[in-house]
Amino acid sequence: MRVESFNYSHDNSHKWGMVIDLDRCNGCGACVMACQAENNVPVVGEDVARQKRTMAWLRVERYFEGEWPNLRVVFLPMPCQHCANAPCESVCPVFATYHNPEGLNAQVYNRCIGVRFCGNNCPYGVRKFNWFDYKLEQPLEQQLNPDVTVRQRGIMEKCTFCMQRIRRGKDHAKDEGRSVMDGEVTPACAQTCPTNAIVFGDLNDPKSRVAALAASKRRFRLFEDLGTEPSVIYLKGGA
Ligand code: SF4
Repeated sequence: MRVESFNYSHDNSHKWGMVIDLDRCNGCGACVMACQAENNVPVVGEDVARQKRTMAWLRVERYFEGEWPNLRVVFLPMPCQHCANAPCESVCPVFATYHNPEGLNAQVYNRCIGVRFCGNNCPYGVRKFNWFDYKLEQPLEQQLNPDVTVRQRGIMEKCTFCMQRIRRGKDHAKDEGRSVMDGEVTPACAQTCPTNAIVFGDLNDPKSRVAALAASKRRFRLFEDLGTEPSVIYLKGGA
């Protein structure tokens, strides 16, 4: 069945996904900063971070492989996994989090009442509660991205796969009477990564780069045994 959403494009045949190559990631954190800037994610500062009230839509986890002295550090960027069977969606009492027709786990901010059931039920810990009203002194407010809502205290926030960029890509494609081309939509994290560790695209397009990488023998998904069916696929383990 064809489902029409947002009434701005009739092409909802996509299934957006991301492939992250852990062998390429060097843990530089550029993707995290790009996400903060693109999505108006506030910087809470050291004191608030110590209270474990951090705010980030993407984090880079660090693990060690091997035994001393032959240790190897592995970095794992962790955005929202946009699960097909998202545990966060079923527990929201007000339907503030829902699954959109293109496989995105979406959040309606002005519907959220801040009970945080979704965050507690997310096995990946990628939903963040906004504890504060953030004020930017002039002229810092001019750095805000006008394409993204500025959230305030009392709601859950999360990675959207840069929904605003997806919309822009779809709008351009619609204006030109064509489908979105592979590589036309790139989230801020993928655009910024200096090692090209992050690839984004339409998993329903068999010719897309992301679909080819997602079929790699090196692929795995996090907590696959939970049956969440994440849309983020990781690669690891050589060529
Ligand atoms: S920008 Fe790329 S290399 Fe740097 S931490 Fe993020 S994924 Fe890893």
